[in-house]
Amino acid sequence: MSGGAVERLATCHCGQLQLRCTGEPAKISLCHCLDCQRRTGSLFSVAVFFARAEVTLAAGVAKMFRRSSASGFDVAFHFCPECGSSLWWEPDRLPGRIGVAVGAFADPDFPMPEQAVWSQDRHAWLTLPDGIAGHAQNPVKAGSDRQ
Ligand SMILES: [Zn+2]
Ligand SMILES: [Zn+2]
Repeated sequence: MSGGAVERLATCHCGQLQLRCTGEPAKISLCHCLDCQRRTGSLFSVAVFFARAEVTLAAGVAKMFRRSSASGFDVAFHFCPECGSSLWWEPDRLPGRIGVAVGAFADPDFPMPEQAVWSQDRHAWLTLPDGIAGHAQNPVKAGSDRQ
């Protein structure tokens, strides 16, 4: 990469916490699980996964909340202590990856997710566009960095 890599800035609600992501996303995934519903206050979360080396803290201070996930592996969530937005998370089962909240880029042109997981928890009225592969749970295997 010779200086031409795409760079995106994810910012919390109040603006003090900023994360710089370079390069193209490894994966974009929508999650309907009940934990994501409670975390976001919305009906699903959309995560973009970048390789760990492509993500750096650009500004601010984060707090961390660690919990187990619906698939049985811990996830550490990093959020703004001022406004509460969760900005990024580190799934134990994907140690080479960092998930970033797509909404934090405030970019309506951000690419569409390629998959939706935990569709067994999807609200009944919610339908997704064609082109997003649905999974009743989460198909990614522990330790796999492929998906
Ligand atoms: Zn904030
Ligand atoms: Zn989830």
